[in-house]
Amino acid sequence: MVSTLLARYPFFEPAREEVAERADQLVDVVDDEVLGRAEERVTMALREGTTGDVGIPDGVPAHVELFSYPVARAVVSIVDEHPVTRRYAWAESVTARDRFRDDLSEEEKRRRSDKRDAKTAGGDGRRAVFNDVVDEFGLEVRREDDGVSMEVGDFLELASGMSDEEWKLVNREVTDGWVRVTRDDVLELSREAVRERVADGLPLFVPEEARDAVAPAVENVREVVADADITTEIDRVEETEFPPCMKTLLAEIREGEHLEHHSRFAITSFLTNIGMETDEIIETYEVNPGFGEEVTRYQTDHIRGDTGPTEYTCPSCSTMVTYGDCRNKDELCETISHPLGYYRKRLEALDDEEGDGGEDDEEGGDEDGQE
Ligand code: SF4
Repeated sequence: MVSTLLARYPFFEPAREEVAERADQLVDVVDDEVLGRAEERVTMALREGTTGDVGIPDGVPAHVELFSYPVARAVVSIVDEHPVTRRYAWAESVTARDRFRDDLSEEEKRRRSDKRDAKTAGGDGRRAVFNDVVDEFGLEVRREDDGVSMEVGDFLELASGMSDEEWKLVNREVTDGWVRVTRDDVLELSREAVRERVADGLPLFVPEEARDAVAPAVENVREVVADADITTEIDRVEETEFPPCMKTLLAEIREGEHLEHHSRFAITSFLTNIGMETDEIIETYEVNPGFGEEVTRYQTDHIRGDTGPTEYTCPSCSTMVTYGDCRNKDELCETISHPLGYYRKRLEALDDEEGDGGEDDEEGGDEDGQE
């Protein structure tokens, strides 16, 4: 019998071992029930930002809940769209955090009533306790009379992915290498550890036999992706075709000039939106001593939505005008309302010249970036 604990936290190391013990290959765990729940994990992630409730869904056996996790990762790997992977990892981490909170509130109730048989989570009822969570991620946490402290290195490693001010070390009390935190802070940092673990290694290599077995779920997920217009349409970097504003900002970076925050956001979000990887952006900025690698990596990951639920789009032309970032306009600028629309038109023209064809496609909607 699969433990409820492992079913609810399938990314825990013992859960991975359980799956490995029960099946030689991924295809061995795929049946209709497992595939249905795997598909639900991914589609819920895309539509609702979670992968399930705090308990195992009604009527779903624990082994189905457990196996659906590696199968969902296989589905996400085959779909192989960065926004889908990002949203999926984020949703698994949010669900995990809600489950941690729920379990720990039960732990607290048990502690108060000193009863070992308090309300359970269904199945064998095994719930996580605080030490399960910190031990799983190797976090050094110590309890103190009036709260909790976390070793500064552990705190920094996980908090670097968080954007709110409260996660900056300068806003924390630090004593002899220990940072004051609350129990809920530990759970939020553990959520980040879950997100990193779920995303780690994606996209996976999925053997042919397993691809065939999960094909119906992949097809359904692709339909959801298409309906929700989740993916960015551009995934190509042709610097000669950049809009004049972005060429200007890029030239200024290469000349070592200081860029205001709004200008930096505009060029970084543009490069991210057209599919440039974080390391490539860092390499592009390296010539400018004002662009530290750490800050650039953080900003880029944040814009890409790797550190939160929102993926930012570069500002529209009207916003660029407001901030003085619309510069060196040309004729094509008169026909578009967004730098990405400009770039798309230039790529289409390039394809036409090269004989690849391509439909004319005006940039639709207002894609104002918001921070
Ligand atoms: S009109 Fe738009 S695309 Fe053209 S330079 Fe200005 S901001 Fe850039």
